[in-house]
Amino acid sequence: MDYDVKSHLHQILDTLPQGVRLVAISKYHPNEYIEAAYEEGQRVFGESHEQELRQKHEQLPKDIEWHFIGHLQTNKVKYIAPYVSMIEAVDSLKLLKEINRQAEKCGRVINVLLELHIAEEATKYGLTLDACRELLKAGEWHSMSHVRICGLMMMASNVDDEDQIRREMQTAADFFDEIKEKYFANDDAFRERSWGMSDDYLIAVETHSTMVRIGTSIFGPRVY
Ligand SMILES: *Cc1c(COP(=O)(O)O)cnc(C)c1O
Repeated sequence: MDYDVKSHLHQILDTLPQGVRLVAISKYHPNEYIEAAYEEGQRVFGESHEQELRQKHEQLPKDIEWHFIGHLQTNKVKYIAPYVSMIEAVDSLKLLKEINRQAEKCGRVINVLLELHIAEEATKYGLTLDACRELLKAGEWHSMSHVRICGLMMMASNVDDEDQIRREMQTAADFFDEIKEKYFANDDAFRERSWGMSDDYLIAVETHSTMVRIGTSIFGPRVY
């Protein structure tokens, strides 16, 4: 292996405080890289393409917890529903409903996060804060017994300005508190704040992230 996954993994883990979990983002990286991290005890991995995830799930150890972190089309939900551990980027009621439907077929309850759009980039997916408020207020999710809403996910703008990144993440953290109090005060499962990637995870840790999604700093640059 031409990249020292193990030492990079430990460098990251050493900087994470208690209560912050690492999702190792393995998209576009070969199985041997995942196996190297697995041997060090890493069990949570994130992928963003359904076919790639399907292959890796078939080939790699079954106790890996796979998080789907990409934009998920509703027609792809059925392929990952039998085994996915968490779907992180739920950005519409339609997708939430389809996850619930497919999870029911599998006899599962699937963990999900609602993805917020706070970054300035127009290309990023996710619910605006108001759209997220609407979705929760409308209440249909209450009757979806095969999804478990575990928290919020977001990606900060891809900029050098650390203050802007911090502002965006703090907005997400404040919004988490608002939603938690209003809809999930008695629901211990609603506790995850998934933000922070290779370039900004230290800011994320300062802004109450519970789950950082790190790829490049562990596995090196992706070859597309
Ligand atoms: C690729 C990806 C990451 C990891 O990005 P790195 O900069 O490689 O750490 C995190 N979150 C999402 C949603 C991604 O698509």
